[in-house]
Amino acid sequence: MPLNAPTQWRTLDFISDLHLQAGQAANFAAWQAYMASTTANALFILGDLFEVWVGDDITPTPGDIDSDFVRQCQQVIKTTATRLPVFFMHGNRDFLLGEDFAKTCGIQLLPDPTVLDFDGQRWLLSHGDALCLGDIDYQQFRLKVRSTEWQSNFLAKPLGERQAIARELRARSQSLKSSGASYADVDTEAAKSWLRLHGAATLIHGHTHQPQDHLLDAAVQPALRRLVLSDWDLDASPARAEALRLEAPGSWQRIALEA
Ligand code: MN
Repeated sequence: MPLNAPTQWRTLDFISDLHLQAGQAANFAAWQAYMASTTANALFILGDLFEVWVGDDITPTPGDIDSDFVRQCQQVIKTTATRLPVFFMHGNRDFLLGEDFAKTCGIQLLPDPTVLDFDGQRWLLSHGDALCLGDIDYQQFRLKVRSTEWQSNFLAKPLGERQAIARELRARSQSLKSSGASYADVDTEAAKSWLRLHGAATLIHGHTHQPQDHLLDAAVQPALRRLVLSDWDLDASPARAEALRLEAPGSWQRIALEA
């Protein structure tokens, strides 16, 4: 079932890969300012908003940095969701974000992928990791952790144990990164067949941190494209923070955001 944009929607924003975490103030501040000021009719968060998510049950504990941080993020999303519809799709870091959190914040969770009907076109929205077929180890891991069985087992563990497992997974991925291992990009043929399967012209995704507009097939009408969202890193130089904005009729632009 495609998500049908109401005709009064003229401007849609897409962001992903902010990797928000406690103690990284610059990303949070830029995101908070953006959320308070976007003029879009609707906002789509396409995954990895959070660096890690181990369950919706992080209860506010005075003085606990993680629960304070989650509460602040919740407040930002909640406030934005009173102004405009906010949609959230899971990334590979925050796939355990659940209905409880969504309900508290007043946002809607989207399956990956989702077809969006907007401006007389069909857009295919995804986090993007499912299409990085070159990384076979990751695809096997993904299959495992996205199963209901793994997830209910994991969520049944005490919070501290879940946090420890998440730390270990993160350390492993960090050491892989620093060993210089190259990351698999989205597989072009798979992206094209996804687009054809869903009758969509443009795939919008994040995950790869390689923001770019790719023309995949110009021989068909409309042409097949892949628009890749930027990650956010306000501590990098130059700083990165960007929203992709679709504007009816027929255009899109990348909005650079400031701290
Ligand atoms: Mn990702």
